[in-house]
Amino acid sequence: TSSAAEEVISPSVQVSYTKLLIDGNFVDAASGKTFPTRDPRTGEVIAHVAEGDVEDINRAVKAARKAFDEGPWPKMTAYERSRVMLRFADLVEKHSEELAALESWDNGKTYEQALTAEIPMVARLFRYYAGWADKIHGLTVPADGNYHVQTLHEPIGVAGQIIPWNFPLLMFAWKVGPALACGNTIVLKTAEQTPLTAFYVGKLFLEAGLPPGVLNIVSGFGATAGASLASHMDVDKLAFTGSTDTGKVILGLAANSNLKPVTLELGGKSPFIVFEDADIDKAVELAHFALFFNQGQCCCAGSRTYVHEKVYDEFVEKAKARALKRVVGDPFKKGIEQGPQVDSKQFEKVMKYIRSGVESNATLECGGGQVGDRGYFIQPTVFSNVKDDMLIAQDEIFGPVQSILKFSDVDEVIKRANDTRYGLAAGVFTKSLDTANRVSRALKAGTVWVNCFDVFDAAIPFGGYKMSGNGREKGIYSLNNYLQVKAVVTPLNNPAW
Ligand code: ADP
Repeated sequence: TSSAAEEVISPSVQVSYTKLLIDGNFVDAASGKTFPTRDPRTGEVIAHVAEGDVEDINRAVKAARKAFDEGPWPKMTAYERSRVMLRFADLVEKHSEELAALESWDNGKTYEQALTAEIPMVARLFRYYAGWADKIHGLTVPADGNYHVQTLHEPIGVAGQIIPWNFPLLMFAWKVGPALACGNTIVLKTAEQTPLTAFYVGKLFLEAGLPPGVLNIVSGFGATAGASLASHMDVDKLAFTGSTDTGKVILGLAANSNLKPVTLELGGKSPFIVFEDADIDKAVELAHFALFFNQGQCCCAGSRTYVHEKVYDEFVEKAKARALKRVVGDPFKKGIEQGPQVDSKQFEKVMKYIRSGVESNATLECGGGQVGDRGYFIQPTVFSNVKDDMLIAQDEIFGPVQSILKFSDVDEVIKRANDTRYGLAAGVFTKSLDTANRVSRALKAGTVWVNCFDVFDAAIPFGGYKMSGNGREKGIYSLNNYLQVKAVVTPLNNPAW
């Protein structure tokens, strides 16, 4: 797992924005404090960014409140809002190389992935939601009695948004796109591991003509800036993506402050089920992709690979061979498939789970160690003979560790696949339509991919059952998270008939 390819393919990039974006200006934290963000290839400091805290969140919420209550954002026509979002999408495309380089530097993901998959999806999402901005309207309701009844779909107000580090810009887009389309104003807190690209696109939003105060961006830590946003009395709605444990804390903070509605997109332990009639080579490749994509740092990673006993040995052999071929190295270089984990904390956590797999007597087929001696690179790791009650089959590892389990019939695998506290996604591999339909309907998961995996689109909703969260993001479903419905009832004194 090393690379022959040495060609650096990214442009060199400068860090230009490291301060909080509040009310249209880049400002220092009120405390004057900063914190370092690091390069996961080496652990070296990339830049020091402003460390937002309670006072900064207060300032940001105040700016967002003013931009909402006094305008201009909710008072602009929907068409004008849509045009700002479209101009922003154009600017994202124009600056896609710098953005991809910055994202890769701060997060460790490959430059190629950021450039060809994620940044285009960010632009696509904003265009998709720009398209909704002027198509949001209420209903006239045929109520009993002599009344004219209508519903108004109003923006909900100031949206607080807390995002994670695994897809910093994509998560920004999933949250900011629908909120802006509906006419809300925003205070967004970035993850402490990856604060850089949000500031950059914040600048692009100003350039696109977004009025000051509509989008405020605060970098800082969860227990300080994050918690003060979640418990703020003047934040009208909260959206969070992150771990299930933190989701619980956030729901509590929202409940104990002003009962703001909360959407949560949390952890997962998604089954990837391979039936005996599946195209095995394709299933091996997609199971590999489902788990190892983005260094395994995906909430929907296919992290429990269930394989039918008749094809199990062949599958394990091929999955191992594929993992051994995975090219790990500097994410800025051509042909690299896997970069480092995001930080030392995640690196240690993944290594702990690898040790747990070995100790619980799963078979370590390959990998298991660090790559190189600096930064946070981990060998693509495959365990076979994994049992449902092992920790590696139950907890979200969030790293490049594939666990392969054996099953013998459909009912059994449905039961085992659902026997988890999570319910984010699932994959089903079979040539039989009957099996595909039956299993898709039986699985308790927000997304079921049949003979494919990780197919994302602006229009396809995403979200979890059970402890993987509540609410749906993307598509038409996300709009509801950012709208209030008001019923207006007026007597009809002169009915037409
Ligand atoms: P991880 O453990 O992978 O870093 P988290 O769920 O803790 O995942 O982090 C996701 C986001 O939630 C980050 O922006 C983080 O700062 C924020 N966060 C963490 N703890 C809290 C908290 N107590 N209140 C609000 N936000 C938090």
